[in-house]
Amino acid sequence: MSTRLTGGCLCEAVRYVCDAPPTITAQCYCKDCRKIGGTGHATHTVFDEDAFSLTGKLTEYVKTADSGRSINRRFCPVCGSAVFHTRDGMEGLVVVRASSLDDPESVRPVRNIYVSRAVSWDPVDRSIECFEEMTVPRT
Ligand SMILES: [Zn+2]
Ligand SMILES: [Zn+2]
Repeated sequence: MSTRLTGGCLCEAVRYVCDAPPTITAQCYCKDCRKIGGTGHATHTVFDEDAFSLTGKLTEYVKTADSGRSINRRFCPVCGSAVFHTRDGMEGLVVVRASSLDDPESVRPVRNIYVSRAVSWDPVDRSIECFEEMTVPRT
């Protein structure tokens, strides 16, 4: 069975291919993800950088997260779609927006983080593993 997953931005100027299954799919309810996304959370699918290839040009926006580590968010400069981010402390991993996958049903979230920040109109699925804040204690 092929493990190849494909995706891209809304205008299709940016396309990507993932040749290995994702490490994890998780949803984040933090303010940054809410601001960037179209609802109260964002769904992230994590891939090994070596299995990820991209065509097209993305613009980068770097912001320091609560953890003190910087997150490099990449989006299409033409249509504005958030495509993926990378971050300090997670070298070698690409965190793709599950919303950008051609077949979003090919992944399933197994974890929710920052659920303490969820807004009332975007209720958290408590049937999967939930963390009030980040999954690991800050160092
Ligand atoms: Zn685009
Ligand atoms: Zn977040």
